[in-house]
Amino acid sequence: MSKIFAVANQKGGVGKTTTCVNLAASLVASRRRVLLIDLDPQGNATMGSGVDKNELQLSSYDVLVAGLPARKAIVTTASGYDLMPANGDLSAAEVELLDMDGRESRLRRALRDLNGDYDYIVVDCPPSLNMLTVNALCAASGVLIPMQCEYYALEGLSALVDTITQIQRAANPELKIEGILRTMYDPRNSLTSDVSDQLSEYFGDRLYRTCIPRNVRLAEAPSFGKPALEYDRHSKGAIAYLALAGEMTRRHAANRNPSHSGPVAE
Ligand code: ADP
Ligand code: MG
Repeated sequence: MSKIFAVANQKGGVGKTTTCVNLAASLVASRRRVLLIDLDPQGNATMGSGVDKNELQLSSYDVLVAGLPARKAIVTTASGYDLMPANGDLSAAEVELLDMDGRESRLRRALRDLNGDYDYIVVDCPPSLNMLTVNALCAASGVLIPMQCEYYALEGLSALVDTITQIQRAANPELKIEGILRTMYDPRNSLTSDVSDQLSEYFGDRLYRTCIPRNVRLAEAPSFGKPALEYDRHSKGAIAYLALAGEMTRRHAANRNPSHSGPVAE
């Protein structure tokens, strides 16, 4: 079974797309089979993966709205992961979906056909709690929430947590918060540590230990259509995302073999 993660936060600019692209590349580096789904009409994950959003034959729009089999819209990237790309067409999907049967579960149904092809499916959500994000949350087993540790960071988090709870109840009981990821992290900033402490208090061990530092290489890499791991593999950003992939896969391995992860009896 694939692990399906929705990378969601209705705030823009918190590092969702950067996390999707770099996590996908890092999971590939640890020999996982990965599909990245771009569910944002801005198509940043598509461009950041080296695929031109203006040249797409088929995209996530066709899968969601026209019911195209998922495999037909998937392309291979130079970074070793597969991509279901997106572009501006997807903004129409939001409205078109409203009148459709099973409008929340179109992506979930489409992904059923892929069963077994991937170890991880990562979904890049748009910066809003709209029908596209709802589709990602209905399809996912976990939500990964990137957060910038700044003054307004926690504002809006309760709306996201409420949405997750509603979807858990109504459509997808499997859904859980997979992890909270601190992005653009600057430990010298005292506000960062205050917000970090609050996150730790509220989310406990769901807060990833790995923090993603503010790193210019992460911001530059997308204009070359590459994950940081390819653009500058020694950069702090690339290394941090490798660490995140490691933390994630270790957690999953531990959950699969609980006898190896429980507290050691004295
Ligand atoms: P979102 O998808 O949540 O809107 P992005 O991943 O597109 O956010 O990031 C917003 C901007 O910040 C982009 O220009 C991106 O390159 C930059 N960025 C993201 N993470 C980092 C980081 N850790 N260090 C420096 N710049 C970053
Ligand atoms: Mg984005």
